Amino acid sequence: PDAPVGSILAAAAARYGDRIAFLHGEDHLTFADTWRAACRFANALREHGIGRGSTVALHLPNCLAYPVAYYGTLLSGATFSPANPLLPPHDLAAQLADCEAAAVVTFGPVAGALAQADVPLVLVDRPTTDDQTDFAAFHRDAPETPPDAGLDVHTDLAHLAYTGGTTGRSKGVRLPHRNVVVNTLQYACWGTGSVPVLDDAGHPTLDQTGPADEWPVRLGTGIGINLTPWFHAMGTIGALNVAVATGGTVVLHDLFDPPAYVADAERLRVTSMSGAPALFAALLACPQFHTADLSSVRTVTSGAAPLAREMINALQRRLPDAVIAEGYGLTEVTMGATLSPSWRSGTRKVGSVGVPIFDTEVKVVPPEGGEEPLPPDTPGEVCIRGPQVMTGYHNRPEETAATLVDGWLHTGDIGTIDDDGYLSIVDRKKDMLIYKGYNVYPRELEELLVALPEVAAAAVVGRRTAEVGELPVAFVVRAQGHDVTAEELLERVNGQVVPYKRVRELRFVEQIPMSAAGKVLKRELREQLT
Ligand code: ATP
Repeated sequence: PDAPVGSILAAAAARYGDRIAFLHGEDHLTFADTWRAACRFANALREHGIGRGSTVALHLPNCLAYPVAYYGTLLSGATFSPANPLLPPHDLAAQLADCEAAAVVTFGPVAGALAQADVPLVLVDRPTTDDQTDFAAFHRDAPETPPDAGLDVHTDLAHLAYTGGTTGRSKGVRLPHRNVVVNTLQYACWGTGSVPVLDDAGHPTLDQTGPADEWPVRLGTGIGINLTPWFHAMGTIGALNVAVATGGTVVLHDLFDPPAYVADAERLRVTSMSGAPALFAALLACPQFHTADLSSVRTVTSGAAPLAREMINALQRRLPDAVIAEGYGLTEVTMGATLSPSWRSGTRKVGSVGVPIFDTEVKVVPPEGGEEPLPPDTPGEVCIRGPQVMTGYHNRPEETAATLVDGWLHTGDIGTIDDDGYLSIVDRKKDMLIYKGYNVYPRELEELLVALPEVAAAAVVGRRTAEVGELPVAFVVRAQGHDVTAEELLERVNGQVVPYKRVRELRFVEQIPMSAAGKVLKRELREQLT
């Protein structure tokens, strides 16, 4: 629907008013509290000349100030630009300069990282020094009437989000309000048996139409436990806007402490868990996860990186009544393009990221170029078309032209589509290895490694040689209590693959380097080989 992002919160405040929207330790915000505070923040920004056409960056970890600053920014008419609070100061300054931030909201303990950045207005949640402008004081006395920002939802940017920088330089992605509202509703429908409608006030909302016993989650009843950072697409859409649109409560955790996470999930009777595969790997390794009463959990959703089949099966054995779903997406499509079918009777294929969400087309084309779709089950580059696809990269016309072709976004991921239209992600195009002209997909080798009980985690990268191309090298974290040798593991994995795919070297490591969004940093592993 053609409505601005702020109206998602307006609809939720009207519908779910006193229900708790965000719970953080002892503190919480209801939907009505969040709406009033966001309106105050929007008005305070406008009093400082910040509104339509300006950008406000949020350099915050997940905290109660986040949704207030997020929706407040959008209600003012300004664009939201998320920044990872762990970014090194130099990269942070570059990002804030690229998006021309007029204001930044930061968090006391990390505010020092802004020293190299030149932003006119710096607001600090929980200030640590007297000269910092307190975020709470900044908007405490502002009016609570929502401003009229006069937005064009097709062209005014809601998000100027930066890609994770897993494969190279991080790029700014331009996402108008329409993209954010559409992608939220495309996912909010999932699991609730609902359809998006406009309410009497013209706000996008959901109407539940499906039979109650068919759908895992009912609107206004869900409780999700969340670690996914809101500065990442999966967090902003999946764990913020979708939760608000469905009237769900979000339980915030700052640091990942698996026993504390499991204790909260049990105590609060949470209905959903979501995150990157690294979260589920850590939970499966946590003894309390296997003994706690988690019978309230209805949905487990993974995204952002590949979820190994072995892990899906282990999660399903542990939570037999829950729907284990995997979605696929990237910042360039706001958040996502596919999800496993939600209904209990629908076919779920382990290892597939499901089918396109509504209004979305997915095709697979030859990796070397061309727009003609490949036959079923043939690996090729995944392309996506739909209303959630970005309008372009910020300040990068050449990269935009190379990525967007006739409305189709070329993702840089290799995938296959089967006869039933299910997409499976084979690997990233940039991670594919070429050995004597053969394509080797590291993910296939990683799946074989993590299926071995002695292996807790594995990542495969290529060692470049002048003679034969790239040779697969595995980095492996041993499972606790196992002292298997590299030779033994190599023998077992290589016995299962054709000779050209064999792993040539295996190194044991303490941990695999990961980004804050839960992606393996293969660049860092490749550097270890040079
Ligand atoms: P950059 O483009 O700057 O390297 P990035 O790719 O980390 O950064 P994101 O938009 O955060 O930026 O990540 C999107 C990528 O994550 C996808 O292109 C894909 O490779 C991977 N991904 C997301 N979901 C899945 C999934 N379910 N299975 C496999 N890979 C996934």
